[in-house]
Amino acid sequence: MLVIISCILLFPSSLRAIDPKLEERANYFLTLVNASYQGLYRVEAEAQWLAATDVSPAHDVGSETAGKARAAFNGNPAIIREAQALLKHRADLKEITVRQLERVLLNAAEGPMTNPDLVARRIEAETQQSSTLNGFVFKLRGNPITVNEIDHQLSTNRNLADRQAIWETSKQSGPALKPGLVNLQTLRNGVAKELGYSDYFALQVANYGMSTEEMIALQDRFMREMRPLYLQLHTWVKHELAKRYGQPVPKRIPAHWLNNRWSQEWPGMVEAADLDPYFKGKSAEWVVQSAESFYTGLGFPKLPQSFWERSDLYPVKPGETRKKNTHASCWHVDLQNDIRSLMSVEPNEWWFHTAHHELGHGYYFVSCTRPEIPPLLRIGANPAFHEAMGELISLAAGQAPYLQSAGVLPAGFQLNEQALLLNDALGNSVPFIYWASGTMTHWEADVYAHRLPPDQWNARWWKYVRDFQGVEPPSERGEEFCDAATKTHVNDTPCYYYSYAIATVLKFQWHDHIARKILQQPPQRCNYANSKAVGNFLREIMAKGGTEDWRKVLRDATGEELSTRAMTDYFKPLLAWLEEQNRGRQIGWD
Ligand SMILES: [Zn+2]
Repeated sequence: MLVIISCILLFPSSLRAIDPKLEERANYFLTLVNASYQGLYRVEAEAQWLAATDVSPAHDVGSETAGKARAAFNGNPAIIREAQALLKHRADLKEITVRQLERVLLNAAEGPMTNPDLVARRIEAETQQSSTLNGFVFKLRGNPITVNEIDHQLSTNRNLADRQAIWETSKQSGPALKPGLVNLQTLRNGVAKELGYSDYFALQVANYGMSTEEMIALQDRFMREMRPLYLQLHTWVKHELAKRYGQPVPKRIPAHWLNNRWSQEWPGMVEAADLDPYFKGKSAEWVVQSAESFYTGLGFPKLPQSFWERSDLYPVKPGETRKKNTHASCWHVDLQNDIRSLMSVEPNEWWFHTAHHELGHGYYFVSCTRPEIPPLLRIGANPAFHEAMGELISLAAGQAPYLQSAGVLPAGFQLNEQALLLNDALGNSVPFIYWASGTMTHWEADVYAHRLPPDQWNARWWKYVRDFQGVEPPSERGEEFCDAATKTHVNDTPCYYYSYAIATVLKFQWHDHIARKILQQPPQRCNYANSKAVGNFLREIMAKGGTEDWRKVLRDATGEELSTRAMTDYFKPLLAWLEEQNRGRQIGWD
């Protein structure tokens, strides 16, 4: 069985000669598929929600059963055959029809029932992996420690021996997760091959209408273009940290010197930008409500009442035995109005940003849930669009004028804007590219596309951390560890992380357009609050769902192709400052 879905570029509608008979046949088919898809999606989302908010073997079984039911439908051979048959006449069908048929095949490729045994084994293995991940108990010097506490310790504790112990604790889940991941490498690749993809990585990048090589080339281009800024940031940071810990300046940054478990973001470097003190006295509820107010101010409706009733927004209370997934997420449970978020919000700056981000997903769901958009296409123009929307709002929510109008900062407060820009680069943007485009994307491409043997996984992982990020582990990390597996996405959202890098680049393009063209304010210091024009710009992108090619949606919105142009512009004042600070220092780590 072979099917080509390599390109989602479509014939311009002017060149189409719609065949009414064929269109009718496709409509009949898609009406049935959409209705069943939505129903089964909902059943599975409910079961997964339960499994994520109350981790237990029984809930895992429920989630697994629902997953199998959805896969049995999505991957039904009769459905695959009909979609393929119709797509042979794509030029005679409407664009929205073609896009739905392509989506049907991409969905089928995740669980093709041409090989039901393989699909069932994959679902079982993934459910088991999530359960190991969600239920893992980390121990620091023999005592259980939560992930929130690990993160808290890494951002506050200044004792290097403690930091190393905490960092090593955060890697304990790797060996427990490795056997499952080895199994999944084979199962996921096997599933992708059923519909003609060479491997699971190739299947995932097909969501962008791209090949593996094109995606890697795009990610490498991001890193090349941002490199002068990254090297300056890296140099400045290692000098600052060496001072902080009273150590000689290293070539690469030891991973336990940084506050993030994977060195993926470098927050907490800029004291003048630390806004946590301003959240003292605010409640976690206030944080989520401020995020909603941001959107209603732009002209979006209030979130449905069910959001507040059904979401799981706050940490598990002390003494409660329930375990929940600690990774923030937002869910479109019924592809209609049941929108929920899973978070563990506390009143601090990080959760303030995260709440704004997650509600970005929520409002994307709200905006593309329209009768004109069939359930199959209630998605982003590509997967990165969803993330970019969340990230854009998180960026906007961090700018000084907004923080003042939202009541985080006292009126008349003088912010050090240089510090904010530096903090923004370190915390949300620039090192992140080298982690996402570099380490994560290249390692997963090696594992899935190039079938890297499991006895080389940890060595390859650290080669990429060293080469792309300029970071090294505090002690030798042999193959008895599996440090990649400590990252949630490696287990449950594989071959996806380049989407976050694309989202980072996209958010600066949208933000640049909003600041310069709509608000006529400097991109480094602007305030979206209560601008209906900004709301309209965002809604127009989101309301299209997956009905148009993402390249066209981006061009129509900004007049530009995907590019780091806006991102490098944004940080230009910072680059000049860093070059001044780093004068006379050796730049880079080679
Ligand atoms: Zn997100």
